[in-house]
Amino acid sequence: MAVVKADAYGHGLVGSAKAAVEGGASWLGVAFIEEALALRVAGLDVPILCWLMAPGEPLVAAVAADVDLSASAPWAVAEIAQAATAAGRVARVHLKIDTGLSRAGATAADWPDLIEAGLKAQAEGSVRVVGVWSHLVHGDDPMHPTTAAQIAVFTEGLRFAEQAGVEPEVRHLANSGSTLCLPATHFDLVRPGIAVYGLTPAPVIGSAESFGLRPAMTLRARLALTKKVPADTGVSYNHRYRTANATTLGLVPLGYADGIPCAAANTAEVLVRSGNSTWRRPIAGTVCMDQFVVDLGDIDADVREGDDVIVFGPGDDGEPTAQDWADALGTISYEVVTRIGIRVPRVFVG
Ligand SMILES: *Cc1c(COP(=O)(O)O)cnc(C)c1O
Repeated sequence: MAVVKADAYGHGLVGSAKAAVEGGASWLGVAFIEEALALRVAGLDVPILCWLMAPGEPLVAAVAADVDLSASAPWAVAEIAQAATAAGRVARVHLKIDTGLSRAGATAADWPDLIEAGLKAQAEGSVRVVGVWSHLVHGDDPMHPTTAAQIAVFTEGLRFAEQAGVEPEVRHLANSGSTLCLPATHFDLVRPGIAVYGLTPAPVIGSAESFGLRPAMTLRARLALTKKVPADTGVSYNHRYRTANATTLGLVPLGYADGIPCAAANTAEVLVRSGNSTWRRPIAGTVCMDQFVVDLGDIDADVREGDDVIVFGPGDDGEPTAQDWADALGTISYEVVTRIGIRVPRVFVG
């Protein structure tokens, strides 16, 4: 299952989902019903699991579109069953057990009630329980002892469900980290997200390269303006950067509305490319809503408006990666790629 929630981790929902299916994914996973319906509208016909909803969401549309739904509590099973009756078809449901994350899922104590609700709805003909599943606490560190405890709770929950009469088509637990590192979590289906986009789930368990992954997203802009300024020129709001020498400034038309974090001011680097030459340059001063500035320094003679600025990419030309940005800003690559804003066109290159 390729996880394509959050606009395919910022990469573009439909294009990424199509690429994943062409690449061999037999399932797609999303958080919200709107995401699942957008995939169906775009013609994707593989099984889709959708796992996060509050009461009163468009379940009839989801069931009518043959979207598998997750239930963590009896009320959710009841809502899905009602929607199935309204849609005139059988809803496919995955029952979720909370094996320790304390996010979605029924606790082990509440699991028997959830199983009972699922089997009752199944007996009435509105629902078919097709999956049993859970999610890991230390998905980014699959060797953590908590993971073994979760596998044990999951296995016990499965045994209970099967003895009660549940016949799951798929049992699933693993995200990217455990897909890459821990076969004991694989069961019938794995749910990698970040690894599908070529990024490591956690540098501590291995670099993207060490897993044979290649970052899919390159964030590129073109210089909107270059100009010469003297030494000690204050740059951008609040003059948080001052030029050390006479230099050339480059204006990059990407800002925090496009996903460049404000915390990148005077910290994160971009790659400027002119012809065959490239230079790494830090962001100079405050990141604004639509733009930021780089101090081009002694490269000024070569660089002009229209030249490429690579914010991050696979690293082939020496540009930073999304992981480098995450490291510089004290966050995770997931946040760097998912926050790229809607003004940035997604262009699929293969
Ligand atoms: C987001 C998510 C995944 C994918 O996680 P990665 O760490 O990106 O591999 C898998 N399962 C669930 C339930 C999720 O919410």
